[in-house]
This record gives sequence, C-alpha cells and structure tokens, in this order.
Amino acid sequence: MYRTHTCGELNKNNAGKEVTLCGWVQRSRNLGGMTFIDLRDRYGITQLVFDMEGDPGLCNEARELGREYVISATGKVRERSNKNPNIPTGEIEMEVSALSVLNPSELPPFTIEDDTDGGEELRMKYRYIDLRREPLKKNLLLRHKMASEVRSYLNTIDFIEVETPVLIKSTPEGARDFVVPSRMSPGEFYALPQSPQMFKQLLMVSGYDRYYQIVKCFRDEDLRADRQPEFTQVDCEMSFVEQDDVLKTFEGLAKHLFIKVKGTDFNGPFPRISYREAVESYGTDKPDIRFGMRIKEITGSVKGGGFAIFDDASYTGGICVRGGASFTRKQIDLLTSFVRKPQLGAKGMIYARFNEDGTFKSSVDKFFSGEQISGWMRQFDAREGDLLLILSGEKGQTLKALCELRLKVGEDLGMRKEGEFAPLWVVDFPLLEWDDETERFYAMHHPFTSPKAEDLPLLDKDPGAVRANAYDLVINGVEIGGGSVRIHNSAMQKKMFEVLGFSEKDAHDQFGFFMDAFRYGAPPHGGVAFGFDRWVALFGGSESIRDYIAFPKNNAGRDVMINTPSPVSGNQLKELGLNLDE
Ligand code: ASP
Repeated sequence: MYRTHTCGELNKNNAGKEVTLCGWVQRSRNLGGMTFIDLRDRYGITQLVFDMEGDPGLCNEARELGREYVISATGKVRERSNKNPNIPTGEIEMEVSALSVLNPSELPPFTIEDDTDGGEELRMKYRYIDLRREPLKKNLLLRHKMASEVRSYLNTIDFIEVETPVLIKSTPEGARDFVVPSRMSPGEFYALPQSPQMFKQLLMVSGYDRYYQIVKCFRDEDLRADRQPEFTQVDCEMSFVEQDDVLKTFEGLAKHLFIKVKGTDFNGPFPRISYREAVESYGTDKPDIRFGMRIKEITGSVKGGGFAIFDDASYTGGICVRGGASFTRKQIDLLTSFVRKPQLGAKGMIYARFNEDGTFKSSVDKFFSGEQISGWMRQFDAREGDLLLILSGEKGQTLKALCELRLKVGEDLGMRKEGEFAPLWVVDFPLLEWDDETERFYAMHHPFTSPKAEDLPLLDKDPGAVRANAYDLVINGVEIGGGSVRIHNSAMQKKMFEVLGFSEKDAHDQFGFFMDAFRYGAPPHGGVAFGFDRWVALFGGSESIRDYIAFPKNNAGRDVMINTPSPVSGNQLKELGLNLDE
C-alpha cells in the first residue's frame, strides 16, 4: 500500500498515529537542526519534519530532495507548536521515520504557486505541471461538480444520456466545419459536429423523449477568450413540449446549479424579454441586467432642432446615469473617446446634466432650450444629480455603441457586481437574418427552428419580420445557452429550406435523411444547448474559458504542449488520396 492517508486530511485527532503519505515536494526549509518539507497532493499540503539530532542520515536525505520530487514518507502525526490556521492540516505535522523517493524531478520550468512566475506560453507548454497549481485545480473541481450536478438533475427527471457520432457529414449552414479525410472513401470527408443537432432530433423521432449529452462540439472559427475550436455543450432535447415547457425545465436546471454550486436561491421565475426589447433597451441580445440604465430612444424629440448631428441621424438615444451630474469634464471626455473607438464608431457624445439645483447644463445648450432638455430628462425619468449621455447615428451601430457605453459606465460605477447573478431568457428571436454579401437569408438560430404560428403568413411576404420559437439563456451579459422549438413537419421543413434559398436537390443532398425521418412520425419537440465551458467560467468568476479546460488550445488554435496541428507523413497522405500544394 503506497499511502494510508492523503495530504489534506490529517488533524489533531490523528496525533500519535503512524501514517504514510505520498506526494510532491512543494518546498523545503532548513532551520537549524530541523528540516521541514511541505508535501502536496491533490487534497492538500502536510508538513513533514526531519530532526538532525534524531536521525542525521534521514535528515540529510531530506535535504537532498528537490522541488516536485515524488516521495513517500512514513512517520507519526504530532500536534504542531507553531500552528498554521490557513490550511486544514495546519495543526499537525509528521515526524518522519522513513522516506523513499518514488521519482526525482527536474527543476520545474515555473513555480507551482497561485502567483506563478511562469508566463502563459510556458505554462501551456507544460500544462501537466500548470494543472498542479491550486487555481487550476479549483477550476477543474468546479467543472466536475457542475457536470455531476447537471447529470444528477437531468437524470432524476427522466432524461437519458445518449452519445451521438463524432464523424458526421459536413453541412453548409452554420460555422465552418472541421473536416476529416476518409481513407476508405478516397476524396471524401467526414465533418466533426458543430453540435449534435440533427441526431438529437432524430432521437426524438425514435421516441427517446428526454435526451441530454455532455458533448464535445467543434467549430472552425476565429478564437476569443470565450471561444475554443473544441468546446463542450450540455445538449438537450424533449418531445411533446411547447416553448414554455422547455424554458421551465431548463430554468429548473439553472436554479439547481445556482443552489448546489453557488448557494444562490432565486425566488420566482427568471425574467423573459423579447429579442426586440433586449436590443432596443440594452443594445444587445445578451443584456447584463445586474443594473438598469436602460437605453431610451429620443429621436422624435431631438430631430428638427437645428443641431445637424441630431437632424441627420436616423436614431438618437441615450442612457441616464444616476448621480452622474458629478462626473468631471475629464470623465466625460474619457467616455467620449471610448465611444469614438473605431470598433464602436460613434462620431461624438452629447451630454446633459441635471444639476442638483434643478438647472441643466448640456453640450448642446446653443441649440436647445432648458424646457426642451427638461423634456428629455422626463423621458429618462431623470432626477436632480443625473446625467444623460446621448449618441446619434444609424440605429444598429448606435445601439451597439450605447450597449458598450452602458456596460462601461456600469463597470466604472461598480454596478456589475462580482458574485451577483442576473439570469434571464431572451425570447422571440427573428427566424431569419439577411446577409448583404451573399444576398440571402440565413437562419438566425439554425434551419430546424420553427417560426411562430402567428407570423407564418409573413413567411412569403416579409421573411425578415418572422419571429421564431427560439430563446437564449443569458446570465450577466453572457450567452449561456440557446435553443428552439423545432419544425416537426416535413412540408414546413421543406418550405424553410426554400426560404433559405436551397434548391430541392441541394436540400435533398444535404438533409434528405433528416426530411425523410420526418415522414415517419416525428413528435413535436424542442430543446436547448448550454455552453458548458462558459457556464463554468461564469461561476468561477472569469471570462477566459481556457482556465476551465484541462488541455485547451491557444488563440491560434494550437495545442502547444503536444504541438499540433502538425504535418502528417507522405504515406498517410497517400493512403488518404491527398495531394498537398507546395
Ligand atoms: N444545437 C444548437 C446550438 O448549438 C442548440 C439547440 O438548438 O439546441 O446552438
């Protein structure tokens, strides 16, 4: 037996007991006649003591141990005179009587500390060492806890986990596919799934009315802090449901995770707001509603006042910052430069202060009377001490800039509180999105999403106005998941492909098996998929999902530890029938 206990479990009650521990040498200190070693394993750290007077040979052996050596030590547990209240084992130490080196270690390339001296690139290269550090260990444990709570919740309400294939067929909709060449069918390719979408729907056709899977998905997209080429979804589907049933079921899952993992109990249902309201009031379909400061449009009240910027703009709107009248000129200038960044593209920002003495001061005093400005203030429900920040321009772009401005001011004023969670459902997404470049409609969610029955008459006349039975779960401005009630009738699915510009042949080639299945008794069904990495990162308090994935890729999509992507041999290429251009 290698060990009797772990390095995280011994305490005063074990004093006098003979134990054996195994682990890694975190650090060692030589103090006079004593040598202390912190022995670390997954569970914690235990202090080992070697006494030069008691056993000089053993003490000298201990002094030879380097950082990250793997050792086993046997000895008696004793209460410490100098206790460390910061760790669970801080009341005891082990008086070592036998030591063996299980494996020496080269000097690690960075320190195994919370604040390590290793840079990102180095830590990624030696990820297996990086994973020994406490912050990463905590993240992986959080991930494990969340995955097991997801399973435990869904299992108790009759969901079953079914695996779906990883080598599938490339389809033209959605993001770019990763493809895998086939040896047995030269010149042909599999694609890795962007999600198990069609398979989970087929499982509904097969009668497995509650499915889930914690599953890897693959999308060949440009990467960001919250994106990886391979990521994990909690993918779910249910039969005989309407939108409300799906939202209630998965709100249950979300609340379960909040209680079990964060200790946060939500009374009452999550708010639901329409896509349109989200965009008009927050400038985005993933609003952070930890704070108010909603955007309001005032185009009607400012147009025609002789101020060219307002007069020429198709949209003018703003936010009201409570207590913002005390912002200094410099603070306002900084916000102006913020919205003028090329990514946001605002030409400028207009402000109007509602002073504590009831007077107004604005950057457009020359053009508007106090009475007019007072009218704007009323539209925002502004009070003495408040500040309006106003942008003008093309509607979509201005709303986007207002969204970022609102988030920035909220952040600056500490309104986006860490540890506070504000979940909501955004519903009634548009079914289709027009793309100017290819001059066609794309499905906003995916081509299997059903249109709202009441909007069906618009499908031919004004497809862009049709709303879908589609929804997203948003928490603190992060899109945690999304789904829809699906089309379950083959005529409707055919019509959808038509609207998306597929010829009958293309639709048949790409999705024939799927439309065929719907001819054999497809039940009404709907579902959702949650971005598991993002959800874990959100609960862990970070934006970077990489810190919650054991072996992630870097921003260039590389795994620098195993050094891939990498070339394959000429032989492999030949077998696959592939010829690479020089
Ligand atoms: N498969 C969809 C996605 O990955 C989610 C869903 O509709 O269930 O976004």
